[in-house]
Amino acid sequence: MTQDQVRTCGRPTKAGHPCKIRVSSSDIACGTHATEQDRAVAEAHRRGYREGYEVGNSSAGSYSKFRIEQLESQVEELRQQLDKETRIHEIGGDQVVQVGGYAYRWRGRPPLAVGDRVLLPENYVSRMKYGPGPMEGTVTGLGTTYRGPLAFILRRLEGE
Ligand SMILES: [Zn+2]
Repeated sequence: MTQDQVRTCGRPTKAGHPCKIRVSSSDIACGTHATEQDRAVAEAHRRGYREGYEVGNSSAGSYSKFRIEQLESQVEELRQQLDKETRIHEIGGDQVVQVGGYAYRWRGRPPLAVGDRVLLPENYVSRMKYGPGPMEGTVTGLGTTYRGPLAFILRRLEGE
């Protein structure tokens, strides 16, 4: 134990010197010099420490897990709300669908549905991955929150 951790009462004695009696972590002053208020504060401190200790041992883990889950569901709720507000299903009369991670425009009829197979134009990534030429894909979602320029789906692949 270092000198800093040893607390003494410090209240003036009858002789006018600071009281040198050691006090415990919760106590404000020694038994002789503590006022009623000092004792009340010390008791509250002890009670708080005890409760904090109990919470720390039993439910702190599950409580913070609960809080994290609460926050996660709030974030998910906001994300869905934002998605709903910003999702567009149409650009200039063309249907907008999601194929994999990318959004495309569809000018054909009838409208595409999730699960439809389509032929997509070559892009930078597909050229590197599959070589030049169009590639096949499956519609994975309707609408997009993306605001950049979109490529057109070349055609619907039927019964393939
Ligand atoms: Zn004292």
